[in-house]
Amino acid sequence: MQNISTYDFTGKKAIVRVDFNVPLDENFRITDDTRIRAAIPTLKKVLAGGGALIVMSHLGRPKGVTGKFSLKHIIYRVEELLGVKVQFADDCQKASEQAAALKSGEVLLLENLRFYAEEEGKPRGLAEDATDEEKKAAKAAVKESQKEFVKTLASYADCYINDAFGTAHRAHASTALIAKYFPNDKMFGYVMEGEIKAIDQVLGNPARPLTAIIGGAKVSSKIGIIEHLLDLVDNMIIGGGMVYTFAKALGGTVGNSICEPDQIDVALNILKKAEEKGVKLHFPKEVVIADSFSNDANTKICATNAIPEGWEGLDAAPSSIEDMRKVLLESKTILWNGPVGAFEMPKFAVGTNDIAKTLVEATSKGAFTLVGGGDSVAAVTQMGCADKVSYVSTGGGAMLEYLEGIELPGIKAIRE
Ligand code: AMP
Repeated sequence: MQNISTYDFTGKKAIVRVDFNVPLDENFRITDDTRIRAAIPTLKKVLAGGGALIVMSHLGRPKGVTGKFSLKHIIYRVEELLGVKVQFADDCQKASEQAAALKSGEVLLLENLRFYAEEEGKPRGLAEDATDEEKKAAKAAVKESQKEFVKTLASYADCYINDAFGTAHRAHASTALIAKYFPNDKMFGYVMEGEIKAIDQVLGNPARPLTAIIGGAKVSSKIGIIEHLLDLVDNMIIGGGMVYTFAKALGGTVGNSICEPDQIDVALNILKKAEEKGVKLHFPKEVVIADSFSNDANTKICATNAIPEGWEGLDAAPSSIEDMRKVLLESKTILWNGPVGAFEMPKFAVGTNDIAKTLVEATSKGAFTLVGGGDSVAAVTQMGCADKVSYVSTGGGAMLEYLEGIELPGIKAIRE
């Protein structure tokens, strides 16, 4: 494994997997270029070091060649940000000549990798009534043709950089399989390096107390993370819709609040494990309840475990936020994943926004604060706090799997 900061790119062609999967409007203009901007330092490093770039990415979830998912739409922005003209290969599998002709300082962008089923290695176009045999044969066929696909991509370059943290949890052709063609010339880009460093600072050897705030709608989708983190943290604050499954498990009444009766045993196990591990679990004692799931609903404050029929808990109450604040401001390392209320509705975003503000305060007092997962990232961004916490993770699913303790294929492929 090499290091991008010290690798000598002089005269080399680098094939770089980036995450240019940006949202486009109906006129194919980029509505949020964060991911493109994130990749620029890595791309500039190769060019400044005397190398040439072959840049590859996916965009959206096409099921074949689809104009609206063409990476052509984003060239203008890459050129603006990089300050270099970007050549384009219409077909990522037929770019040999263009790649061979690239000179130092030049950039070639390959068309959307997912125009090919081989990128993900999953068969496409299977009939709905396909038999198991047919499914198996189709899977074997795409896995076979995937080998050629990977080999062709690898043939374009002398070294490989993975800078797409957002897809690091996928063992795709461009994110993992290609790495084996570059045993001595593979490395992480700066986005990947930053993400790994930030998460390891929390999970590896954190300054203590270490506190995790885990919010979100359901216990069932966060159980992996909660279980893994219980081995590591000193405090865990549980918020959001998950709270009501715990309240119910402890014999409370939760009215119409979101609740997963089939997760009650899981919730009880979490309580038991926390006690065994000496982890302090914190739940909101009071919540804001509403008489409908709407921003116009009537609301009042209520004990979390005594919610009347016809009402549902949709946010942490001010007293609970104050409790959480105390725990957070005593912490030296904080990990935040998931909103503590139905924050898409402004009326129920107060708790989540207060958490964002508290994280900023904790950061200014010297705590290391990591925010990850689509909704909490949206909350800190919305509050204008993204640059006032220690690190905001860009990889939703990848970050969650990392927090569950799963070794991500994109990271493993570079390290092994
Ligand atoms: P997740 O994707 O699991 O992190 O869940 C995020 C979603 O949980 C957001 O869409 C929130 O609106 C939702 N959520 C948080 N708290 C509640 C709640 N008390 N009731 C219903 N939904 C909630």
